[in-house]
Amino acid sequence: MARLATRFAAYPFALGVASGEPRPAGVVLWTRLAPDPLHGGGAGEEPIAVAWEVADDEAFAQVAARGSAVARPSAAHSVHVEVTGLQPGRRYFYRFMAGGEVSPVGRTATSPAAGAPTEHLRFGLGSCQHFEQGFYAAHRHLAGEDLDLVVFVGDYIYEGPAHAGGVRRHAGGEARTLAQYRNRHAQYKTDSDLQALHAAVPWLVTWDDHEVDNNYARLRSETLDPDFARRRAAAYRAYYEHMPLRRRARPGADGVILRSRHDVGALARFHLLDGRQRRTPQACPLPGRGGGRMIDVRCRELTEPGRTMLGPAQERWLAEGLREAPGRWHFLAEATLVARAAIRSGGRTRVSSDAWDGYPAARRRLLGVIADAGLTSCVFVSGDAHATVVSDLKLDFDDHAGAPVATEFCGTSLTSRGPSHRRTDTVVRQDPHIHFGDSTHRGYVVVDVTADRCSAAVRVLADPRDRDSGVSTVATFEVQAGRPGARRV
Ligand code: FE
Ligand code: CA
Repeated sequence: MARLATRFAAYPFALGVASGEPRPAGVVLWTRLAPDPLHGGGAGEEPIAVAWEVADDEAFAQVAARGSAVARPSAAHSVHVEVTGLQPGRRYFYRFMAGGEVSPVGRTATSPAAGAPTEHLRFGLGSCQHFEQGFYAAHRHLAGEDLDLVVFVGDYIYEGPAHAGGVRRHAGGEARTLAQYRNRHAQYKTDSDLQALHAAVPWLVTWDDHEVDNNYARLRSETLDPDFARRRAAAYRAYYEHMPLRRRARPGADGVILRSRHDVGALARFHLLDGRQRRTPQACPLPGRGGGRMIDVRCRELTEPGRTMLGPAQERWLAEGLREAPGRWHFLAEATLVARAAIRSGGRTRVSSDAWDGYPAARRRLLGVIADAGLTSCVFVSGDAHATVVSDLKLDFDDHAGAPVATEFCGTSLTSRGPSHRRTDTVVRQDPHIHFGDSTHRGYVVVDVTADRCSAAVRVLADPRDRDSGVSTVATFEVQAGRPGARRV
């Protein structure tokens, strides 16, 4: 039995509220009771009843749905409510109540009815929010962009220990245990700008490496840690506990089903992809090491046809989801850069073994599915590079005259430091399918979608170390429906 009459030593909704995975009839609502966020949460050892309400209005005069959930200590007193019975394409307000306390009010929205004509969709693309390397000014600006969705493609937390020289410091050492990952997620979620962005708009999320450990692949860590399966399981559990995800994403014996599909009426379909859990380990690591690095393309392992980024089951699921919905925009949301980004010097060609360049056969398979199905409005939205990279995607990147089959908008990091601009300029110069590269700025991308076109505004911060930083647009690109490839406007 859940306790009803709990009194908390401090405000229990210190991590805010969130919503995600909107459907025509409902949405996932999230919160976590954590009166002492940085030290295990502090909600005690008992289950606690949490009431929730969804209303048409901010004053909660017209309640559309209400219920009660149980926050269990085994799930760090997190709550994931899958609300149903709402109206499609509508905005709602929501809140939680426990122990006489009321949470902040969140805003969310259901998606349009299945197949309904939908004029416009506007989403923000973000990734890589290192807590120490910047304040969340980008999040504050995103919250004011009047978005339907935030699409977050990885590095929600960074697992590393505290470093000097940033704008603030990680609490505790490198996260390895469940308790440490919980505290790390909680520390990030104490940020008021991050909380406000969650409370403003529903999110679609996937992860990259740092939610667990730098450059891991499947069950192989950079250091070939023999206990990595246990560490990964702890990190996955904490991730689920802190994200507005459906119950199907709850970790089980076989890992996590993170992949998901989201329709926006007849206008668009999102495919949220998991590129870490099932991937073949990176090719040609240094002896005695795992992880990724810049490798020579002559690495023999690199071209093995069986190498996979998504795993066979996810590849099949994605192909089905693409083929069954022609005639609309498809947004393939995943963590790492899809476009070939080779660096040629001294007679050698090198690529990153951690991005899709490390999985050329899998990339060719996926782009081949798009080409063979005759889909002409596919856009990849990615991150990880800590640079904005806008590219045309081709079946053969060496065929400069070849027509693109898809487009990629890789968003820069929200805060995490980027690579040198010299290196980014070299990539743009040497890879003609890349239209634009910028690693100097932190920020995000705002994508506006109509039946005819998809336009992406690259929005960058003046200074990520300034909590009050302004934001400006450095470039805008457009893709026309039925014509793969980006054009600067
Ligand atoms: Fe990152
Ligand atoms: Ca990453």
